[in-house]
Amino acid sequence: MVGNDRILLSNCRIHNDKGVLQPAFVVIDSHSGKIQTISTDKSVLCSSIADNGLSFDVVECEGNILAPGFIDIQINGAHGVDFSSPNLTKDDVKKVSRLLPQYGVTSFCPTIISSSEDVYSRNIAIISGLCCRKEDEDHDNNGNDDDSTKRIKGASILGLHLEGPFFASSKRGAHDEAFILEEVSMSLISSTYSSQDLHGDHIKIITMAPELSGALTTIQSLSSDVIISMGHTNATYDDGKDAIKAGATLITHLFNAMKPFHHRDPGLFGLISSSDKNEDGNNSGSPYFSIIVDGQHSHPESVKMAYSLSPSKLILITDAMSAMGLGTGTHSLGSMTVSVDRDKATLLNTDTLAGSVLSMDACVRNLISFTGCRMNEAIAAATINPAKLLRLEHNIGSLRVGLNADLILLNDELNVIKTWIGGRLLYDNSLNFT
Ligand code: ZN
Repeated sequence: MVGNDRILLSNCRIHNDKGVLQPAFVVIDSHSGKIQTISTDKSVLCSSIADNGLSFDVVECEGNILAPGFIDIQINGAHGVDFSSPNLTKDDVKKVSRLLPQYGVTSFCPTIISSSEDVYSRNIAIISGLCCRKEDEDHDNNGNDDDSTKRIKGASILGLHLEGPFFASSKRGAHDEAFILEEVSMSLISSTYSSQDLHGDHIKIITMAPELSGALTTIQSLSSDVIISMGHTNATYDDGKDAIKAGATLITHLFNAMKPFHHRDPGLFGLISSSDKNEDGNNSGSPYFSIIVDGQHSHPESVKMAYSLSPSKLILITDAMSAMGLGTGTHSLGSMTVSVDRDKATLLNTDTLAGSVLSMDACVRNLISFTGCRMNEAIAAATINPAKLLRLEHNIGSLRVGLNADLILLNDELNVIKTWIGGRLLYDNSLNFT
């Protein structure tokens, strides 16, 4: 592929505005890594490229489905790597990045669970050093993949998700009680996360309990730079409303580690159907909500109910832990030990769920099966919905000219055949790319 100006993805099918699949031809600009053209007419497309004297490579897509790459905003690790491990290395993070394209994931937010200040200090620095690489930093192909100025040849790291430690201890779930802090302030955040820069791109999401002392003023201070999510919380519906007014825009793994729905206090679940508008008409009252659709963390009917209330705000997350990709056995998650039995991960010798071992493509398939939604709607929950939450929809999350060529080719059963990131083919199920 090296040397040509364009890559033509020929004979794929894409969803139109009505969610119907239609034949299409997509051209990627090899130099910019962006989608250059999307057309339903190959002959017009080819003559246009020829008229401009451009050369291109052709990838025959054989009628398979082309979709934007999946975005996972909460992943604790995979394939033996734990982003909260005190022994985490740069190579560990790169390893996960390289392995995620096989599941259709083209960008992600590595997630650190409640940890010691030492772990925050070193692991935030390690992951920050690998995130937000620019498109043009890896196109000289000199073979030196470890040069720190270059993009990883894998899923892009969008920034960190710090899940904790500012939680309600009684809702800590699999997080270690020793690290939980039941109050929060800007100075506590700075000291806990070792004074990391909270106004840059490296820390993308912080999950905290909004009812804690100091939470609302902290959310007000942070929410223009960081996505604030509500989670591991005893928040009432009113606490949640106050947090949204202060700037919170997300609920972390809806249903899990929060008060359950009650008709006199619907809790955070009650927020997702809100239709409050702010002054400029945006729907400020309805937050995004992430959800683990593995059939373990929530009953399929609960997923269906949440989806039916607010389909455009549902965000699929794997919440995957280090055992994802390793199979049944005993594995580490932060300072805890977890037991995996097929698709269920629990704290060792308990029934407490400890993250999932599900891949993102399986989450998308499950959403269709649990809710009966259409394929394009399930894909949206892993693409444009998280892109909008992260305010990155101008770069990723949909199939549009000018966006990053983060693309996946899927068969009709939504299994991943090929994955391109920034226009580069980084996974092909017929080849061993890892
Ligand atoms: Zn959690």
